[in-house]
Amino acid sequence: MTKEYDVVVIGSGPAGYTAAIRCAQLGYKTACVEKWLDAKEKTVYGGTCLNVGCIPSKALLDSSHKFVEAQSHFEVHGISVGKVSIDVPAMVARKDKIVNQLTSGIKGLFTANKVDGVAGTAKVTAVGKVIVTAHDGSEEEFAAKHIIIAAGSVPIDIPPTPIDHQTIVDSTGALDFQEVPKRLGVIGAGVIGLELGSVWARLGAEVTVLEALEDFLPMVDKQISKEALKIITKQGLNVKMGARVTGSKLSKTGKKSVTVEYSTKDGEQKQVFDKLIVAVGRRPYTEALLDPSVGVELDQRGFIKVDDQCATNIPGIYAVGDVVRGPMLAHKGMEEGVMVAERLADKKTQVNYDLVPSVIYTHPEVAWIGKNEEELKAEGVDYNVGVFPFVANGRALAANDSDGMVKLIADASTDRILGCHIIGASAADLIQQVVIAMEFSASAEDIGLTMFAHPALSEAVHEAALAANGHAIHIGNRKRRKK
Ligand code: FAD
Ligand code: NAD
Repeated sequence: MTKEYDVVVIGSGPAGYTAAIRCAQLGYKTACVEKWLDAKEKTVYGGTCLNVGCIPSKALLDSSHKFVEAQSHFEVHGISVGKVSIDVPAMVARKDKIVNQLTSGIKGLFTANKVDGVAGTAKVTAVGKVIVTAHDGSEEEFAAKHIIIAAGSVPIDIPPTPIDHQTIVDSTGALDFQEVPKRLGVIGAGVIGLELGSVWARLGAEVTVLEALEDFLPMVDKQISKEALKIITKQGLNVKMGARVTGSKLSKTGKKSVTVEYSTKDGEQKQVFDKLIVAVGRRPYTEALLDPSVGVELDQRGFIKVDDQCATNIPGIYAVGDVVRGPMLAHKGMEEGVMVAERLADKKTQVNYDLVPSVIYTHPEVAWIGKNEEELKAEGVDYNVGVFPFVANGRALAANDSDGMVKLIADASTDRILGCHIIGASAADLIQQVVIAMEFSASAEDIGLTMFAHPALSEAVHEAALAANGHAIHIGNRKRRKK
């Protein structure tokens, strides 16, 4: 018998579960279909982010950061702890516990909000019709006035390094190593490569990152990416730029290892690793999701085509999160989920795609919002820059965590903030202050005139804003660029 719903959401990652909960809050009878099974073959909600993405990677980043703190940074505070060791299975088990806590939390939120969680693989077979194939192979038909697709993304594989889930792994495998690899190779100096490379480097692996591009973190403001490369290299990550991986050979005898072949401007190179993480990007996941007769359009790279309000070309079908254009970030997907739900209820909600914050959770963190200097130069915009280094911030010095800077850019004629770029401790939280300011079209002077608690890392944001207009009190500097 067909089950009738107002809304069927496909996928329970950040984009899908948020959409489902908001739809239910707005009074729609809502189901959320999820195919993900955990190691015990139990359906789990939360998608990539909660199961094998944002949360587990941050759990390992935090554990490994504490290890480095205990090993190398306590002494300066007068604390000695003797020999510090790491129990990798215990660290991974803690990560799994956090994942479990949060994915169960989504189940609880579904119950509290009256969202029906449905286990199985969904396929849109017609407008307003979804067939769900349960894990035992049985099929059930759902009728829905609105369908929201939030099927997410999966790692990209490259032919030279096929994943064998043992020696060559993707980001998911890299969250579950049971010991620290002696020699770890990472393909891709993107967000995942740097975050997971950092985890294992902190715990003692010799990490080499092979990156095809010549430019390190090309999406990041140059001054900040230069600083990031300097710090990351000091931490032991050997980042080889302009290294395009061309092949690999797994060892046939002895301890498992892989020889990776790559080409650089100096010619062909080879390097042997005990583990290799392939982190070369992710692709939208739309396999077996849409019957072609429905007519939902995909773009050339496989993303579901949507307008600024996440409507597809077919009325009644929407798509949100990693499966559509834009940065593959959990918070972007969540806001899209809310937008679609609220638009169904005739609200005028709109995502501001100009203000999607980005963070790389290395230590120090790298975070940015808005335009960087290179983009503004290319656009011929006249701007002011204020830079404030954490080494001049009392709280950063007190914490012995003073690497990095805040860089704030404002329009030279209107003083409106155009962008902010931070490398430093807690950059993820600091950038949010500027995101809020920019959402309200604030000027650098507005931040400069705001009182900040002392001593706090956020004073560096205050001083960078003052510096943009030449008023920094505790150093800082001002640069002016003409068109
Ligand atoms: P997903 O989270 O991918 O969820 C999609 C869900 O749909 C999955 O559960 C899938 O099983 C289900 N599904 C797919 N097809 C079907 C079907 N036919 N039927 C039923 N169910 C289906 N982003 C950040 O913002 N911050 C971070 O710190 C961060 N760290 C990350 C670290 C790693 C290692 C990785 C891999 C990613 C990270 N991301 C991070 C990216 C983030 O995980 C994604 O942007 C986010 O999960 C996308 O959410 P989504 O809901 O669109 O898709
Ligand atoms: P990415 O796009 O950030 O980086 C991939 C890197 O691999 C690029 O620098 C690319 O030039 C390089 N590359 C591609 N092919 C290569 C080859 N053959 N040899 C060498 N290098 C090659 O992708 P990712 O790191 O896999 O992350 C995927 C997505 O997940 C990101 O787009 C991001 O949105 C999301 N994510 C976000 C966070 C966060 O917000 N902190 C963390 C992890 C992942």
